[in-house]
Amino acid sequence: MKKLLITIDGPAGAGKTSVSRALAERLGYRYIDTGALYRGVAYEVKRQGIDPENDVDLAALCSRLQLVFKQKANELRLYSGSTDITDRIRTPEISMLASAVSAKSLVRDYLLDVQKDIGRQKAAVFEGRDMGTVVFPAADVKFFLDASSQTRAQRRYQEIKSNSNQSLKQVEKDMQRRDRDDSTRSLAPLKPADDAIIIDSTDLSIQEVVDSMLSYIARRKG
Ligand code: C5P
Repeated sequence: MKKLLITIDGPAGAGKTSVSRALAERLGYRYIDTGALYRGVAYEVKRQGIDPENDVDLAALCSRLQLVFKQKANELRLYSGSTDITDRIRTPEISMLASAVSAKSLVRDYLLDVQKDIGRQKAAVFEGRDMGTVVFPAADVKFFLDASSQTRAQRRYQEIKSNSNQSLKQVEKDMQRRDRDDSTRSLAPLKPADDAIIIDSTDLSIQEVVDSMLSYIARRKG
């Protein structure tokens, strides 16, 4: 059967991760979380004490970085060199720093090649912000997943509350700032591709979103 490359873009908390993972599983495809790559860069910026505004140091970091996804049991884990950083990149501080480094063209250029490389064999669901617009403009099926900002903040709060002492209000504030920064930046701003299928998940379960995506994909395959 023809192997497809599927992209899912959208703002934080729209349900992209759960939906992308479930969709990839249903199709027997790889699931690639590209936000983790930006978080990986942010993690190393912090760990190595680099000023994210210093382009020379940031370029030097990118040239020696080795961010690699490895399949472990049922999960795709992110490694920086030989260190598994999958769990260390999920803090509010790394979220904000990832958004800051993602506005840097040299970081985006570096990760563009990394992502294109991973996508070469197709049979993958790529989740991110600019998958359908910049990284894979010729993707076979493109989705843009959105939800109301209250729903998104509530979902993100539920997701992180066991690991973080941020209040719902703080989560909502951080998310609004990240949304604004991600959609107004000049480089690869968050927006649906012209040919993306837009799905609002505010009142839908993960299963309902995945079923609706599968029916679009079946039409495309047919
Ligand atoms: O998806 P996640 O919240 O993990 O992404 C962290 C940050 O990485 C986002 O706020 C965004 O600024 C950036 N990002 C991006 N392009 C992508 C994926 C993530 O700019 N394809």
